[in-house]
Amino acid sequence: MRTILVVAEHRRGELRPISLELITAAQGLRQADDKVVVALIGSKADALVPAVSVAGVDEVVTVKVASEEFDPDIFEAAVAQLIEEKKPAVVLLAHSVDSLGYAPTLARQRNFGFSTDVFKLEWDGEGLVATRAGYNQKVNVEVEFPGKTCVVLTVRGSVFKPPEGAASPAVSALDLTSKSSRSTNLDYVEASGAGDVDITTAEFILSIGRGIAEEDNVEQFRELADTMGATLCCSRPIADAGWLPKSRQVGQSGKVVGACKLYLALGISGSIQHMAGMKHVPTIVAVNTDPGASIFTIAKYGIVGDIFEIGEELRNQLAAQPLDG
Ligand SMILES: Cc1cc2nc3c(=O)[nH]c(=O)nc-3n(C[C@H](O)[C@H](O)[C@H](O)COP(=O)(O)OP(=O)(O)OC[C@H]3O[C@@H](n4cnc5c(N)ncnc54)[C@H](O)[C@@H]3O)c2cc1C
Repeated sequence: MRTILVVAEHRRGELRPISLELITAAQGLRQADDKVVVALIGSKADALVPAVSVAGVDEVVTVKVASEEFDPDIFEAAVAQLIEEKKPAVVLLAHSVDSLGYAPTLARQRNFGFSTDVFKLEWDGEGLVATRAGYNQKVNVEVEFPGKTCVVLTVRGSVFKPPEGAASPAVSALDLTSKSSRSTNLDYVEASGAGDVDITTAEFILSIGRGIAEEDNVEQFRELADTMGATLCCSRPIADAGWLPKSRQVGQSGKVVGACKLYLALGISGSIQHMAGMKHVPTIVAVNTDPGASIFTIAKYGIVGDIFEIGEELRNQLAAQPLDG
């Protein structure tokens, strides 16, 4: 019998969606009498027990620690203690800024197997195989962990669907309130763009990527989006550069545009992380000068061309025949 340990993530009292996705990933690994244990770490961890009491969870462990919010020192100590007690074969964490603050150290110091940004997990005859991307998403890499009794993996978000149905797992508790940290969480500062339009509810999105080349070019695409009645969104480099607020970023570390029906991708290559936020959209139209761009693999309509020329053409067409005319 093996134990698969899932470490849930929460922020400001709410479970993050990836926590449930991790439970599904654990389910996929479960064999025969394997056990899925979910750990909730925080001063108010008890409050989240109902949220993780879902189908496929055998046990929930609440780990009471001094701080309510994530802290890398505390989480590292707590997960190390859980591994000591539960002896899991696999530990699943979110591939997130939180986990990356402690998981590499945890694994390295204890000589565990380790891989990040994993999107497929399976057992083969020899042991666990985790699949992640390599060489800038150009190839998939299968990682094996020979000789490791415990493997720690950070799992990519939006890959596994959350489980359906409630359950009544056993609940146990650990007290680690005596553990201290080198840092203290003082306050939360909202990211820029708070109060901006909610792109997850937009039905028609015009999204710009690094193909726009420079900040001065944002305005012409904003105007085009307005004229077309689309919501202007972007890939991560545009948000990272501060050309559009983070609230407009589509993708793994941005938002999943769940309500979108038409997605116009202009100068976006189609990285796995970007596609994680929009690949489900029924009608994707992509414009890119590179015929080999990955975005074309999911686009319903693809135009190999220059976004400035296509933008100009659209403006001319719309001027001649306005959408509301
Ligand atoms: C942990 C992690 C999380 C991430 N999360 C996200 C995320 O949430 N969202 C996200 O978008 N990215 C995310 N990324 C970054 C991601 O890996 C890519 O770097 C990013 O998506 C690339 O953005 P892009 O397509 O705009 O730029 P590029 O990959 O540089 O592509 C620009 C494209 O524009 C085309 N182009 C250039 N000029 C023109 C022109 N004049 N006309 C037409 N086409 C043109 C080029 O051919 C190219 O295909 C994440 C990365 C990591 C590691």
